[in-house]
Amino acid sequence: MKISEVDIDKVTPMMQQYIKIKRKYQDIIIFFRLGDFYEMFFEDAINVSRELELTLTGKSCGLDERVPMCGIPHHAANIYIDKLIEKGYKVGICEQLEDPALAKGIVERDLIQIVSPGTIVDTESLKEWDNNYIGNILDLNYAYGISYADITTGEIAAYITNRNTDVVNEIISRGIKEIIVSSAVDKTIIQILKNYGVSITITDEIEEIDYYDYIFKDLKDERYKQITKHLLTYITNTQKRLLNHFQILKIIENNMFLKMDIHTKRNLELTETLRQHERKFSLIWLLDKTKTAPGSRMLKSYIENPSINIDTLNKRYDVITKLEQEFILKNDLIEALSEVYDLERLVGRIAFGSANARDMLQLKNSLKVLPLIKNILENLNFYETIETLPEIYELLETSIYEEPPITLKEGYLIKEGFNHELDELKSLRKGGKDFIACFENEERERTGIKNLKVGYNRVFGYYIEVSKGNIPLVKEEYGYERRQTLANAERYISPILKEKEALILNAEEKIIDLEYNLFIEVRDKVKSYISRIQKIAKVISEIDVLQSFATVAETNGFVRPELVLDNKIEIVDGRHPVVEKVINDEFVANDIIMDKNTDILLITGPNMAGKSTYMRELAIIVIMAQIGSFVPAKKAVLPVFDAIFTRIGASDDLVGGESTFMVEMLEANNAITHATEKSLILFDELGRGTATFDGMSLAQAIIEYIHNNIGAKTLFSTHYHELTDLEKNLHHLKNVHVSALEEDGKITFLHKIKEGSVDKSYGIHVASLANLPDSLIKRAREILDIYEKKEKNSNIKIQESLPLDFEIKENPVVEELKKIDPNKMTPIEALNVLYELKAKI
Ligand code: ADP
Repeated sequence: MKISEVDIDKVTPMMQQYIKIKRKYQDIIIFFRLGDFYEMFFEDAINVSRELELTLTGKSCGLDERVPMCGIPHHAANIYIDKLIEKGYKVGICEQLEDPALAKGIVERDLIQIVSPGTIVDTESLKEWDNNYIGNILDLNYAYGISYADITTGEIAAYITNRNTDVVNEIISRGIKEIIVSSAVDKTIIQILKNYGVSITITDEIEEIDYYDYIFKDLKDERYKQITKHLLTYITNTQKRLLNHFQILKIIENNMFLKMDIHTKRNLELTETLRQHERKFSLIWLLDKTKTAPGSRMLKSYIENPSINIDTLNKRYDVITKLEQEFILKNDLIEALSEVYDLERLVGRIAFGSANARDMLQLKNSLKVLPLIKNILENLNFYETIETLPEIYELLETSIYEEPPITLKEGYLIKEGFNHELDELKSLRKGGKDFIACFENEERERTGIKNLKVGYNRVFGYYIEVSKGNIPLVKEEYGYERRQTLANAERYISPILKEKEALILNAEEKIIDLEYNLFIEVRDKVKSYISRIQKIAKVISEIDVLQSFATVAETNGFVRPELVLDNKIEIVDGRHPVVEKVINDEFVANDIIMDKNTDILLITGPNMAGKSTYMRELAIIVIMAQIGSFVPAKKAVLPVFDAIFTRIGASDDLVGGESTFMVEMLEANNAITHATEKSLILFDELGRGTATFDGMSLAQAIIEYIHNNIGAKTLFSTHYHELTDLEKNLHHLKNVHVSALEEDGKITFLHKIKEGSVDKSYGIHVASLANLPDSLIKRAREILDIYEKKEKNSNIKIQESLPLDFEIKENPVVEELKKIDPNKMTPIEALNVLYELKAKI
């Protein structure tokens, strides 16, 4: 039975309520609150029971057959929401909006929130070191506007670009999980983003929400407002609330950061490894010794958007130097930071209205160390300071009970002494409870029944229990009224007991309500401090990232880079910081020297010698320097780069299903069209995806183009030894090579970069290391021999034809076929020839 076919007039009022809501939100799974459960009906029930392996039951609701139904306990909802979102669904939470006990008729219910990949706020699936972004693309006719927000932290930013690739890049490399796009956005962009697993909703709705005007403080450019309003409209319509923790809109300009496209970021394994998509063994894994979650997230954002501002970077280096010198201060700082909880997400939950008393305690404990941190910052001469908010600490210290439950509806939220009325109610309750404690003893004495007990249960409230043998001792005059008969006892109530019970329960109910209200008051008070707490969180994140850099620099022997305005690189004994951690052998340090007049290093050497490690090492050192970290070398003099372009390793081309070669060429084109003399280009064996001649010619043409027209610092590794001749004519190109030692036909890699070129590629040696069959290796050596002899004799550098020592003969059937003219044959003749040909094969 489909929900669309149901005659709504025939079903029960509750089901009518459900159907009305569900019909409004057809593509969303509705969690419909019924008592302690969230129930799903119709197609939702069938889908969800299958996806989550829940039992599918049914509910009678006035129709001939029972309606499919499945349910989950409300307190476990988050686990199920996480799973459904993971599987690509959105979940709408439909709550009871009034107390069922007080409702006249059917309980009012409505959707209070839609949870989708980009709007998760409260569940286990949020990783503390990752932002959870929701974004949008708005077509501005001549360009695209993008904005993105993290609802858990309140960060919000906007960006305008007229390049489709930038749009995709921005969304994928920021890890934006869900976007809203206006209907005019190019369908290919949408398709590409879908291929990357981004959840997409198409909507053109833009509402004016005055509440959010503060986000645009001092912003003149209306376009950014428009873009952001498109996103805020969607957030407001799905979250059904206004959030005061959104920060002032950050405008992202095109030339604010060191540019890298998504392939470069992935290939350099900055935040996850290429194959396993894991954080372990990525650059961030090495650099992240932060103590706070916002610090960890800030580090990630640094790594994805390195700075190009020399002053900013030098300021960061200064702090690291200071931290290295002042190790006691540094240890104090680390200890203090360890006490700080995720302030950004705590205030996010406060704004969202989902913060509980435990969150408030975390906030309090974080605020407690602020004076200490402030002090340390001053001693470090740190370029920022923090407020310490003693009044909020004081408020939380006096109000929030130390061991509160998770929910807000059971009391135990507020400390004694905070509110007079609450204290009175509590003493009333205590009086009642004390009375009952005494009552048991008094009644034992009065009745002489030694094992008389006073107990409590939900159905009968307080009762007096008398065991079977003693029942005859219960006298009329005691005023006991029988309520329940058990196998070996009777339970009674008495007027005085009921009177006290009413008092206790009444006080209890009032206490719970009052505690809840007081808690909300405190929370609202803190809510008015959100932007100030966010500022503190920013500064703390920053110092946390820098202490992490200092810690990592110290353990791994990194040095402070020297940033220069000249276009020169001088790295002495540089290392790849992650490879050196991972390999078992000693890492061989190498220099990377490119003076003002050297733009291109052409790197030759056998496979496995370390060419691509050397190239990546330079990129990683540049990125580390431009996020403000020290770098793995004895000395590092660097210019500030504006972009890094790479064509290294295998490409992960989810985008268009192009061939490897096509991707190579697209990336090469991207590099040479956008690189400037301040860029870094890394091309690893460019051109190998096609035939030798093609590949080599393209490689040479590209090198010449970079050399003559761009002047970007370029590392180019190649197997085409012929290219090493370019050094003679291209004055800004230098040959270097990675050496290998050959002894008794065995090869050892030294991983040492030296000047000049090699004339041997050792490919077969490497193949034999991979344990290819001996006979195959032997045959390869023979063929190589033929090639090499031919090359020597012909005096040409490159082989012109396959010098293999066999001739290819054409198949006899093909020869026969060539002779035949079908126009001159009868059908019978043709059939006969066909038989003959078939017999021949
Ligand atoms: P190529 O690009 O020349 O084929 P790679 O750069 O991929 O070679 O290096 C192959 C392996 O050699 C790496 O995985 C690493 O284990 C090791 N290696 C590379 N460079 C070094 C080095 N400088 N010191 C030690 N080991 C290295």
